[in-house]
Amino acid sequence: MWDGIIVGGGLAGLLAGIRASERGKRILIISEGVGSLTYSSGVVDFGDVRRLAGQEKHPYALLGETLVHTSADYFQVLFPDYEGEWGRNQEVLTPLGSPRRCGMVPKGLNAKALRDAQRIVLMAPEGMKDFFPEVIKANLVKIHPQASVEVYPFRLERFEPWYAIGKPVMGMDYAKFWRSDLGIAVIKDLLNRLAQEINTVQRIAGSEKLVVVFPGLVAGFSASLRNALSEVPFPVVEMTSFPPSACGQTLYETLKRKFRVLGGELLVGTGVKRVELQGKVCHKVIVPSKGRDTEFSARSFVLATGGIFGGGIEVTPDASRETVFGLPLFIPSEWTRAEFLGEQPYARMGIEVDRDLRPIASGSQEVILENVRVVGRMLAHWDPWLEHCGGGVSLASGWLAGEKI
Ligand SMILES: Cc1cc2nc3c(=O)[nH]c(=O)nc-3n(C[C@H](O)[C@H](O)[C@H](O)COP(=O)(O)OP(=O)(O)OC[C@H]3O[C@@H](n4cnc5c(N)ncnc54)[C@H](O)[C@@H]3O)c2cc1C
Repeated sequence: MWDGIIVGGGLAGLLAGIRASERGKRILIISEGVGSLTYSSGVVDFGDVRRLAGQEKHPYALLGETLVHTSADYFQVLFPDYEGEWGRNQEVLTPLGSPRRCGMVPKGLNAKALRDAQRIVLMAPEGMKDFFPEVIKANLVKIHPQASVEVYPFRLERFEPWYAIGKPVMGMDYAKFWRSDLGIAVIKDLLNRLAQEINTVQRIAGSEKLVVVFPGLVAGFSASLRNALSEVPFPVVEMTSFPPSACGQTLYETLKRKFRVLGGELLVGTGVKRVELQGKVCHKVIVPSKGRDTEFSARSFVLATGGIFGGGIEVTPDASRETVFGLPLFIPSEWTRAEFLGEQPYARMGIEVDRDLRPIASGSQEVILENVRVVGRMLAHWDPWLEHCGGGVSLASGWLAGEKI
């Protein structure tokens, strides 16, 4: 029997698994798919924690401001290359070169160096999918009128066969290349060549406050690449990218690795279809595998199936249902609003819980299942898009579930 089974291996489920494994618990994560982290930009948004914690029923109100801080500190210990100052937003570049504020970012993505740049050089890898250098340049010019902005196109021998047949190079392919030994040698050469070219036109890089913008590096997860970048004579600022994002994907892979290193078991590619309950206690989850059902028993369970986007809530024209335990859902009376980028009430759909994250009956505090905890996007009463707290709620609830298993 497992100490804990976590259903869903996205940000919330993996964090719960890591924390519980660290505490010496035997944990199994069962996950149908990869989770929304692979689509996210890899930065963690916390939103205005104090204000949201004062909002009745919001997950931050249940968890408390201190616990949200604790989970942020915990994440920073797991990922020392992330930075963020509590209560202050960091700035990163969107895939189109405009600024975006967020809570915690890999250091390489922090765009603060651009604020007083006098010259910005945008590195433009040939054939990179969903990368639009002229649009980025136009935005950089608009946002940093103090600086001259130029595009520096380059191509890599490694991808010549791809260029030749017009095959786009995904951000992830470039990111993998930059982390290889050959990639590190090439990037050093490329940036040193750029430094020399600048010097040959009688401009000393250091005195002119040059900043280089480089898409798709993901240096935060590679010490060798970070070292190589620290040796060039100007700051290099990375960019976020459109989904699937190399940074989000690398964060996901790293979380999985950390969980496994701690002894956790991860079953990816198959989902929980049924559960066995006795009164208010869950005993088993049932997973279809190789044409037959396999049962897994545990003392404690975590529901981390990611809401509508993750597959944890199924919505049809007739009804909405939680797909694993059949738990009751909070469903706003009004679903959508006409304003495309405005508030969409359905985002707040989810499961209502008590302070221990256990599901409660609608309109009362009665706990429905004593040994099940609900985390991340499965929780009711929050909106990651409007409140900019997607990563924060997932980290804080995942951390608490990991403590409680
Ligand atoms: C496109 C996009 C961009 C985003 N960008 C950001 C950002 O920049 N910053 C930020 O802070 N947040 C961002 N978010 C929000 C953030 O990623 C999510 O809030 C957070 O990752 C949700 O985590 P989760 O673990 O609750 O769900 P998910 O990551 O969706 O994970 C749910 C997991 O459960 C699995 N699952 C579902 N049903 C079953 C089943 N029956 N059995 C087993 N497994 C099952 C799914 O396959 C999936 O792996 C973004 C989200 C999206 C969708």
